[in-house]
Amino acid sequence: MNLFAVLEQAATRHGDRGAVYLGEHRVLTWSDLRDRALRIATSISETGEPGDRIAVASENRPEIVELMFAIWAAERVFVPVNYKLHPLEMEQIIDDSGAALVFASPRITPALTSVTDVPVEALDSPSYLNRLEATSSDRPRDTDPGSLAWLFYTSGTTGRSKGAMLSHRNLMAMTVAHLSDFDDPDDHCSLVHGAPMSHGSGLYIPPYVLRGARQVIPESATFDAAEFLDLCEHHPGSSAFLAPTMVQRLVETGRPRPAQLRTVVYGGGPMYVDSMKKALKAFGPIFVQLYGQGEAPMTITGLRRADHVGATDAVLGSVGYARSGVDVAVVRADGKPAELNEIGEIVCRGDVVMSGYWRNPDATADTLKRGWLHTGDMGSFDADGYLTLRDRSKDVVISGGSNIYPREVEEVLLEHPDVAEACVVGTPDPDWGEIVIAFIVGTAAEPDLDAHLLERIARFKRPKRYLYVDELPKNSYGKVLKRELREQLR
Ligand code: AMP
Repeated sequence: MNLFAVLEQAATRHGDRGAVYLGEHRVLTWSDLRDRALRIATSISETGEPGDRIAVASENRPEIVELMFAIWAAERVFVPVNYKLHPLEMEQIIDDSGAALVFASPRITPALTSVTDVPVEALDSPSYLNRLEATSSDRPRDTDPGSLAWLFYTSGTTGRSKGAMLSHRNLMAMTVAHLSDFDDPDDHCSLVHGAPMSHGSGLYIPPYVLRGARQVIPESATFDAAEFLDLCEHHPGSSAFLAPTMVQRLVETGRPRPAQLRTVVYGGGPMYVDSMKKALKAFGPIFVQLYGQGEAPMTITGLRRADHVGATDAVLGSVGYARSGVDVAVVRADGKPAELNEIGEIVCRGDVVMSGYWRNPDATADTLKRGWLHTGDMGSFDADGYLTLRDRSKDVVISGGSNIYPREVEEVLLEHPDVAEACVVGTPDPDWGEIVIAFIVGTAAEPDLDAHLLERIARFKRPKRYLYVDELPKNSYGKVLKRELREQLR
């Protein structure tokens, strides 16, 4: 089984209908999309072998859809790279994955070419257009469902990204769970890509393609609340995946629900109860919550549309209940099940769970134990089966929908000669969800630190505030007490 089958079915059933749209304009029909994907697959297959990794570094663009299916048709592995990363961070992912080739948007190509030796092909280049002249390959029929389809890079706490290995079977389990739990699109529906297609939004491509729903890419290639709402007025039966902060930005426009907007899936970071209540008031019960992570793509627990209607604060503040086909449990440090309302680590298992981290057996052994995925998130179940996340043991800061790992920022800060110690924490913020705050022991001035960071990591990871302190609070093992620092900020 190969995920290309979902496009094959859509093209067979809906050949002449619109498949891919840029804003309001139709770019490709389903037949065009299948044809282009199979031609690109032929050209990709001319070098290398099945299982090769192929990276795609681009802001949201129509080509991402055809490349995803072309890569699968050629039995290669799709490695999307978040376009917001610094070129050096992109290079780390390209290097770690051992990618044979990188497809990059024209905007990203020049910077990427200067940091990697791997061939980089711009999506508007003559060589890309040449690929469309190849003859169509046959669709793949014998792919082992356990073979690798997607390397999903999460930011590592040590600063190096880890690639969660997702197979065709994992992504098909995700697809089926989405269609059975959350949404029921058909060929008069649309998926509007508000969030990055390299991550959250891209994972929804298979379920919506399977149902023949339009793939709509905003012309701005980014998230603009007004543009997003306009597109949801225009395209039939619109669904979207949005980070919680994006939902907030929709509400802030003060506009009513677009007539065609049917489903907004939110998640990937905490949604505060108050914000959800405002969103429900503004748009009605169109919301679905997911709790997931790259290691179990988008599919651990969730709240359905109806669960939001007349929900208590406890339910709205929870992450819902186990998704179809997924076993979810909360365990104590010794691996034994926790009692109801007892906080422990959230673990899960099922066909969605990755087979491990790419070329990283130590991290795999730490995360997959006795068949269970250890999420690193702490939480508890209540008597009604709702799971509530209590703390993120990984200390990840989620700002504007993007994950920021404090350790990575700390390490870069510590590279500055005038920084003796640094500790980075997140603090709640009405606009960004959370913002990054850095506690600094040292004499480096704020503008110097900003410049130092901008040379090394993505802009969005930069602290919004620096607080200078004489020393950092530490426990008896010398570990910094982050909780104390967070409390100082309240
Ligand atoms: P990533 O793998 O980058 O998508 O990050 C996954 C992490 O985001 C999870 O381990 C959680 O800590 C957090 N997360 C995901 N969904 C939710 C949610 N619905 N509510 C709160 N936190 C979430």
